[in-house]
Amino acid sequence: MSRFNDVRFLISAAAPAQFPADVGAEVAFAGRSNAGKSSAINAIAQRHGLAHTSKTPGRTRLVNFFELLPSRRLVDLPGYGYAKGPAAERLAWQPLIDALRTRASLKGLFVIVDARRGITQADVGLFDWAAPPLAVHVLLSKADKLNRAESTAALREAGQCLAGRGTAQLFSALRGIGVKEAQDALVAWLS
Ligand code: GDP
Repeated sequence: MSRFNDVRFLISAAAPAQFPADVGAEVAFAGRSNAGKSSAINAIAQRHGLAHTSKTPGRTRLVNFFELLPSRRLVDLPGYGYAKGPAAERLAWQPLIDALRTRASLKGLFVIVDARRGITQADVGLFDWAAPPLAVHVLLSKADKLNRAESTAALREAGQCLAGRGTAQLFSALRGIGVKEAQDALVAWLS
């Protein structure tokens, strides 16, 4: 499959009713605010500026849909981790992601985790949300900031946190580390 030549923005959905038709296949991208999710999406889709980086943390509560290939979508979920309390955050999130979870076209979830920070409780909540049959793939982002020993430790720790629920890899949008591997995982889910 040639990579994503005709990627285009579809819609910013504020409510489930605005989601595109549930046909084909789609993969969601999630992560704490500032984890590097937008940068990862831009690197993987090979489109600079597709997802907007460095927004005011936690302000957007929209689910952005992009079409990578005909009937093949990338779903950009709001960043989490900055709301005043877990309750407030869940109120904003829950209806949108509950609706997303029911879609037959949703095949997998990428979770972007700052490699220096490691997997947090909020990330684990998402693994549970995905639960089988949805596959989870963790991108340990900003890997350019880790040395070799730290990279090995981050990967091992991620594997332990995932506990069989998914896979993990090192990633750096800045240095292009792991972009091909992430694209391969995405394409496999979308095929
Ligand atoms: P988002 O909030 O998860 O969408 O994160 P962004 O993609 O906006 O990135 C948050 C911050 O991390 C920005 O200052 C980016 O420049 C930085 N960043 C993102 N990816 C990388 C990376 O691969 N390496 C480094 N060193 N910094 C990165």
